[in-house]
Amino acid sequence: MPYPREQAGKGGHSDFIRNPDVKQFLESCSYLREPSDREAEAIAALYQPAPNSEPRMLPRSVVASDASKSDSPINDKLPSTQVGFLKISHVMIKMDDYDGLREQRGSVVNPYKVAAIHRGAAPITFTMPGSNIKYKGNDNVKDSFRQSLYDQLSLNRNANGGGLTLLQVLVEIFDGTIEIKTCPACKTAGLFSFDSKRTSSECATCRKTVYATDILRLHEGISDFGDNASMMTRMMNAVEHLLLASFILTVFNDTPNVLAEVAFVMDGPLAIFGEPAKLHGRLQGLIHKVNQHLSGSGLPQMLVLGLQKTGGLMDHAKLLERHLPNGSLRLVDDEYRNKYVVGAESPADNFGNETYYGQDFIFRTERGRVFNFAIPYPFADKTFNGGGKGFANAKADQSRYGDLVQQACDLIRHFEMDLYESAIVPVALAHRHASISIMPGGKVLDILARTTIRR
Ligand SMILES: [Zn+2]
Repeated sequence: MPYPREQAGKGGHSDFIRNPDVKQFLESCSYLREPSDREAEAIAALYQPAPNSEPRMLPRSVVASDASKSDSPINDKLPSTQVGFLKISHVMIKMDDYDGLREQRGSVVNPYKVAAIHRGAAPITFTMPGSNIKYKGNDNVKDSFRQSLYDQLSLNRNANGGGLTLLQVLVEIFDGTIEIKTCPACKTAGLFSFDSKRTSSECATCRKTVYATDILRLHEGISDFGDNASMMTRMMNAVEHLLLASFILTVFNDTPNVLAEVAFVMDGPLAIFGEPAKLHGRLQGLIHKVNQHLSGSGLPQMLVLGLQKTGGLMDHAKLLERHLPNGSLRLVDDEYRNKYVVGAESPADNFGNETYYGQDFIFRTERGRVFNFAIPYPFADKTFNGGGKGFANAKADQSRYGDLVQQACDLIRHFEMDLYESAIVPVALAHRHASISIMPGGKVLDILARTTIRR
C-alpha cells in the first residue's frame, strides 16, 4: 500500500474540481468536510487521555506485514493478457535489537542497522492468472484462478518445511470442516464437504474439481477478458490476514505462551472485504481463543494491531489534529463514526458487521502525531450481547479491551518515526520490502512473468 507522500503528482486534480459540471454536482452532495473551529473543539472534547502508565507494556518482538500487488501484461504486444502478482513481506523485529537502532534515544533510525533487518525479511509471492490466461489445461480463466489459488495455498512456504500450509490454516480456522453448497464451476447445488484430509473433490454434474479454497469466493469476480485487478486486491487483503492466522496458529499449536510476547502489526484495518469477507469472523474467533488462553494463564494478551494510514477515518483525524491535545485517545464507536466521519442517514445496526474484526481508535501521541489504529474485538463472534446493536454497544466499551489499549499506545509511542506520517518503523520496513510497483523490483517481476509462461 502506498504511503501518502509516495503518491504520484496530483497535477490534474484541481482542474477537474474547477470544472463547472463537477462543481455543480458537488454542491448537491454531502461529504466529509473540514469542521469549523467550534465544531472541532466540541469533537476534541470527546477525547480522553490515552493510557500512559509505567512500566511500558511492550512485546519482546514485533512482526509487521505489508503487501503489494501488480497486474502486468506478459508481453507489450498483448496488453490484455495479464498475470497478477502478490508479494507479502514480513519483518520481525526483536525489541532488544531495535533499541540499538535508534540514534541517541531519538526517533531517527540508523539506516545501516535497518538494512540488516531488511536482509532478514522474507517475502512470500503469489502468481495468479489474470485476463486471458489459462492454467494447467483449464478451459477458462475463472477455473484457472481457482486451481491456481488452491495450488498456491497448498505450497509449504516455511523455510524449514515444517509448519502449516495456508490451506491447512484455512481448514483449521473453519473448525476443521469447510462446506460449499454450489459447484463454483457449473453452479449446480450440491454439498461439497472438505476437511484436513480431503481438500478437493469432483462435481458429479460438470466433472470439474471443486476446491476447499473456493470458500474464499475470490473466483467470483474473475472473467476471461475483463480486468481482474480488483480481485487481486481482494486476494491480497484475504491472504495477508490468512498469513496472520498462519503465524498465530503455528505458534499457538506449539508454544502458545510465546504469543504473550509478540505483537503483530497489519497495514490497514482489521477487516476483510468483498467476496472473502466471511474470513473476518474466523480471525476474530482465533484471536479471541488465543487471548482467552493467555489470560487464563495469567499472561498479557497478544496484541494484533491494524494501522491505517489512509481512509475516511484518517482524513477525519487529520482535519481534527490541531485541536486534539497531545496524548489523547478516542474509541471510534458507531455513533461517533456516523456523526462525524461517514454521515450515514440510516446507519447499520453494527458498523462493519460483515467485514471488521477490530475496533478503530484515533490516537494523538505525546509527540503530536496522529494514528488510526485497531485492535481485535474481544469476543468470540458477533452474536455477543444479542448481536447487531447489542454487539455495537459491547464493542464500544473500552474497558473490555483491558490492557490491549495501553499495549497498542505503547507500541506506537515506541516506534513512531519522522520518516513517514502515521507510520511506525516495523510497518515502514515491511512496506519498503513489499513494494513491487517501484523499479527495479517491478521490472524483475515483469521479466519473470514473461519468461515463465508458455505461450
Ligand atoms: Zn459442477
